[in-house]
Amino acid sequence: AYRADEEYDYLFKVVLIGDAGVGKTNLLSRFARDEFSFETKSTIGVEFATRTIHVDGKLIKAQIWDTAGQHDLMCLRRYRAITSAYYRGSVGALVVFDLSRRVTFENTARWLQELRSHTDPNIVVMLVGNKADLRHIRAVSVEEAQAFARKEKAFFTETSALESINVADAFTGVLTQIYHVVG
Ligand code: GDP
Repeated sequence: AYRADEEYDYLFKVVLIGDAGVGKTNLLSRFARDEFSFETKSTIGVEFATRTIHVDGKLIKAQIWDTAGQHDLMCLRRYRAITSAYYRGSVGALVVFDLSRRVTFENTARWLQELRSHTDPNIVVMLVGNKADLRHIRAVSVEEAQAFARKEKAFFTETSALESINVADAFTGVLTQIYHVVG
């Protein structure tokens, strides 16, 4: 049966967090519009994109929030109101790091801390190691990332927004899990 675009059974807000430059915006543009950009963005602010997927015959609309700008949320920390608004109502999170830059993996602990201090304890969290295409300069092993995710009660996956590997699975994995928690 025909259903209009605006129709959906569930609306889930999901936030993207992680250091600047890890590929959050490109993961989102790959998922929402199948686009990739080699440029780093220059605008500062908060944006969101939506995509509707099917899970168990239900239409789930994902509203995915991304911070635009080089400095990302770290820079906005002092503006508590913005940080709170960013996290408000979110039921899922993708905590992204760059597999080729170890410091971005180490910083995910801080991102998780900030996430947990603003959200419900039941929030579904996916740790995402992005830029899996940079195999030759990999700086974090699967085992280490998996162990950390387990400790944090988060899921873990590796993606490449550039090569379009696992990107849709990362998002649909979170959405499916949220559906099972709330649905
Ligand atoms: P954000 O600051 O976390 O939103 O990161 P961006 O999405 O703006 O990406 C930062 C840079 O990394 C850009 O130059 C992208 O082209 C590049 N990038 C993003 N994803 C990938 C990926 O999967 N592989 C590679 N090699 N580069 C990527």
